[in-house]
Amino acid sequence: MSKALSKLIRDVPDFPKPGIVFKDITPLLQDAKGFRAAVRALAKAAEPMQPEAFLGIESRGFLFAGALALELGHGVLIARKPGKLPYQAHRVSYDLEYGSASLELHVDAVAKGQRVVIVDDLLATGGTAQAAARLVEQQGGVVAGWLFLVELEFLHGRQRLGQAPVASVLRYA
Ligand code: AMP
Repeated sequence: MSKALSKLIRDVPDFPKPGIVFKDITPLLQDAKGFRAAVRALAKAAEPMQPEAFLGIESRGFLFAGALALELGHGVLIARKPGKLPYQAHRVSYDLEYGSASLELHVDAVAKGQRVVIVDDLLATGGTAQAAARLVEQQGGVVAGWLFLVELEFLHGRQRLGQAPVASVLRYA
């Protein structure tokens, strides 16, 4: 794990609720060299996945999906929380530790057979990333891989993801 990058991730205990240690990536985003190094590391991991588009998960996933799309010359798709997208959208719901959540994607976001790489800032239990994959597959796309800046390995989120490769830059065991 890159020491320089891991120093730019701030632990915020008990946010957003007691017992959760929130991995705050804003110091990394604010650091020009750090942000560029993180995007380059993600881009390197993305290349063998042969992406044709990047799908960013609201909201921090947008930052990395947008940067990767520019870096590698692809479009960016956005999976949003319910009620935010202006046009017709598909919705999937998934379970959280307490309660449930949903993600939406415009019905015409993914072309049939298109290779989509799903991007988020952090992989925890994997429920969010798995929901994004369902949206891609519902539209006939192919999940070519998953990319995360941070992976909380102790939550075993990657076990919930499918066959496609999963890559992360900073891993916490
Ligand atoms: P999960 O569905 O459990 O993999 O949760 C992943 C989503 O929740 C990502 O969009 C993360 O941004 C956010 N998330 C979950 N746990 C944390 C954490 N400890 N620190 C920062 N973000 C988190």
